[in-house]
Amino acid sequence: MGITRKENPLSLRRILKSPADMASKVLSHLKILGQKWLFQYRGALLSGITTAGCIVAIRSIGLLQILELSAFDRFIQQRPTEPRDDRIVLVGFTESDLQKLNTSQISDHAVATVLEQIRAQKPRVIGLDLYRNLATEPGHDRIRHLFKTTPNLIGIEKVIEDAQGDAVPGNSVLSEAGRIGASDIIADIDGRVRRAFLFPSADPPIESFSLRIAIEYLAAQGISPNPNASVLQLDNVKFSPITSNAGGYLNADAGGYQILLNPRGGKGKFRMISAWDVMQGNIPPAVFRDRIVLIGDVSAGASDLFFTSYSSASGSSPQPMSGVELHANITSQIISAVLDRRVLIQTLPEWAEWGFILGLTSISTWFSIRRGSFFHKMGWTICLILGSVAISYGLFWMGWWVPIVPAGVGIALAAMLGMTIEAQRLNVLSMQDSLTQLANRRSFDEALAREWERAWRSQTPIGVILCDVDYFKRYNDTYGHAAGDDCLRKVGAAIRRSVKRSIDVTARYGGEEFIVLLPHTSVKGALIVAERIRSEVEAMQLQHSGSQISRFVTLSLGVSSVVPSSSITPTDWIEIADMGLYEAKQAGRNCVVVKEFLFDV
Ligand code: GH3
Ligand code: MG
Ligand code: MG
Repeated sequence: MGITRKENPLSLRRILKSPADMASKVLSHLKILGQKWLFQYRGALLSGITTAGCIVAIRSIGLLQILELSAFDRFIQQRPTEPRDDRIVLVGFTESDLQKLNTSQISDHAVATVLEQIRAQKPRVIGLDLYRNLATEPGHDRIRHLFKTTPNLIGIEKVIEDAQGDAVPGNSVLSEAGRIGASDIIADIDGRVRRAFLFPSADPPIESFSLRIAIEYLAAQGISPNPNASVLQLDNVKFSPITSNAGGYLNADAGGYQILLNPRGGKGKFRMISAWDVMQGNIPPAVFRDRIVLIGDVSAGASDLFFTSYSSASGSSPQPMSGVELHANITSQIISAVLDRRVLIQTLPEWAEWGFILGLTSISTWFSIRRGSFFHKMGWTICLILGSVAISYGLFWMGWWVPIVPAGVGIALAAMLGMTIEAQRLNVLSMQDSLTQLANRRSFDEALAREWERAWRSQTPIGVILCDVDYFKRYNDTYGHAAGDDCLRKVGAAIRRSVKRSIDVTARYGGEEFIVLLPHTSVKGALIVAERIRSEVEAMQLQHSGSQISRFVTLSLGVSSVVPSSSITPTDWIEIADMGLYEAKQAGRNCVVVKEFLFDV
């Protein structure tokens, strides 16, 4: 008995008969999907790309830098207040101290007396934030002797040259002993200090005064810089240097080795004792013991006063911070990071910053093109901005400075653009016939009123053509409704092709009727256009077996033209064209009939 092998019509072999065929089908489906998606979301894409381009442009020419730095200050100021750092005590020559000393220049004698008093209490590190490169008599020999015999004393020098090309060397005794740090401070374009040098010069490396003191302090606890780390590392804490475009900066001078300043607060975050009191021995016992003591000039006339992120926190007049307080803040920042794990302010890599900005801009674009009322969208946009600010604040609290200003501008810009484009799109859609993409009845009525008015004013003729598909009911009956729709699309396209001038209006008037409005056109001109439409449709040779007058789809057309006057309304005039169309049907279809308005004489 022979076995006949029947092939399963749905077998895999059959389905995969032609992989190339399958692939091309899948590809063409994907292409159609892609085109549909592009068509639907082209407004969103356009608004997203435009916004992104604008933000990149305004950020890269530095228009947002000041705003970004101000936002940084606001975030710094809004943080919960931090307790005083009792590891550091300041001894300041105040304005009244100088008056009591009856001098404008702090003498070596005065400094030496202060130093002796402090030394007696055995502090861990003493930082002298006063230049002592030149003798300020009286007391120079005394102070040199003290410098030699105080191994935990660090002095200052200034390594970055000023506008005159001058730097300030350190005291020779301290320099020879290697007990010196650079007191250089770097300010931003608005004059505020938001960065701190760890090394004002990276090659050769010269430590800053603040870092030097922090290192001395931590050394007593067995913590020293990791010599194998690529960045400064104390214990497990890495102090990564900033780049010139870090955070909100644009081409900032990132020379040397700088970190972002994270001050403890405005003034009063360190105990301050007046130098006069110290000189008089008028100090509590053990106030300096095992602490960092920084000595500096805090008088009103001192040359080193700096504005920081806190300077304008309390009121309108900015409050500067003395140099010694600023150094105390930097030293405290380093020590607290190592011993208390206090956060250091860091910035995202540039690609992540752009990701943050563009991500929020895209969300805003998405909201703006979604369906919903204007107020709904505005509400979402405001929520998005407030949410982003809250998230940025939270991140800042955790030590991350994110670019909230460009993101906020991006959100607002994307929302405005998105809503405008969407409104425009809806406006176009509301004036368009969805099947044929021609103008719809509403749009035609508006155009008619406008052109009628214009023709009346200029007393020029205006033409109209009404077109109706012949035996279209039968077309539907024969080929189905979907094929009927397709036929209407093709007829609409053919009519549009036949109408050449941009001021002419081609619209779907209803069902299978189309209408063409021809400003500045007499009967003769309108007749020519109507005939062109008729023959264009006929020439397409769309099969129509149900038609009683042709094998193909045909049109009947009624034409009229008039110079507007008070004797006729636009509606009456369209009626006249419709009468022409009726006569064309009566005359056997697939033809044009002109019907003119006869003025009463
Ligand atoms: P005539 O030559 O006298 O104009 O005959 P006709 O069949 O075209 O006339 P009639 O106005 O009776 O029929 C119009 C038909 O057009 C009726 C309706 O089924 C069809 N039609 C109207 N709008 C649409 C549409 O959007 N899609 C499709 N497929 N058919 C439509
Ligand atoms: Mg009809
Ligand atoms: Mg018809």
